[in-house]
Amino acid sequence: MVYEMEVNDIRPDNLMKESKRLRLKDLEDLLKNESRFIKVPCPACQLNDYSFLFRKEGFNFVGCNKCETIFINPRPTFDMFINFYETGEYLKYWNEFIFPVSEEFRRRSIFIPRAKKVFELVVKHKCKNRIMLDVGAGFGTFCEEIEKLNLFDKVIAVEPSADLAKTCVLKDLNVIQKPVEKVEMDDEVDVITNFELIEHLFSPKDFLFSCNKILKKDGLLILTTPNIKGFDMLVLGEKSDGIVAPVHINYFNIDSLSLLLKSCGFKVLEVLTPGKLDAKIVRDKIINKELDVDKNPFFMYLFLEKWDDLGNSFQKFLSDNLLSSHLWIVAKKD
Ligand SMILES: [Zn+2]
Repeated sequence: MVYEMEVNDIRPDNLMKESKRLRLKDLEDLLKNESRFIKVPCPACQLNDYSFLFRKEGFNFVGCNKCETIFINPRPTFDMFINFYETGEYLKYWNEFIFPVSEEFRRRSIFIPRAKKVFELVVKHKCKNRIMLDVGAGFGTFCEEIEKLNLFDKVIAVEPSADLAKTCVLKDLNVIQKPVEKVEMDDEVDVITNFELIEHLFSPKDFLFSCNKILKKDGLLILTTPNIKGFDMLVLGEKSDGIVAPVHINYFNIDSLSLLLKSCGFKVLEVLTPGKLDAKIVRDKIINKELDVDKNPFFMYLFLEKWDDLGNSFQKFLSDNLLSSHLWIVAKKD
């Protein structure tokens, strides 16, 4: 969720400290039941052929030997995740404190551009625009912004968390408080969006099948997720702040997510990596001495000596060539 802007602009430091404390506390509660964690196949290609990569904050990260998706394995069960999101302190804290104080900044920096991009994509792919579902609507800011553009007759926020769903109701949005796997629609849905969601889900495959079932034929699915083969994630590996257990449990790359989408009845229409922060994230890690580049003179030259001259064009090169960690995929129901 951080790749579109300055990290500290969305996340004031003191709030982030408390957020981290609560995440670690929730995480400790989850780890008390580690003996009940279950092993899963690769969330993208479904093969049981993976290798251990590293351990971070008590969780094992493995890499699929075929499609190179990285995932937490073994992982908490579906019910344990539901419990984590419904009763944990971490998400409640985001809803009560972080989302409200950062909403207007996030609205300008993330949600208005995001709504504009969705508008463009729906028009470009000539999709019907009667009903749109935003799955994992969270604080509801994106739904508010897409409603303002009057592109759809009806926008529906799908949000399973009771607290966040209540926030969406208070904003006068149409809300379904359920996971999408349990949503049944009388009307056919033209567009489903979900932003920075699939990396959190116990079963991305079940999720995409459910989206496919709800969408009408040729309906559009627009999703974003971190790209594990994007620049900063590939360079930083386990040191990446985007690798955060147990909130993010699936880390796809462009090929593995495309493969999964195909297996769930979608045709990929467009892939974009419009990230703006990869290079800055890596530079910050170098400056904070969290990434050692003594043996990498090119990185020292680019990120320290020539940053003012080359930083922006280097980031543009990453974004233009599908090398950023911020990934958008547009697919249609086949
Ligand atoms: Zn795989």
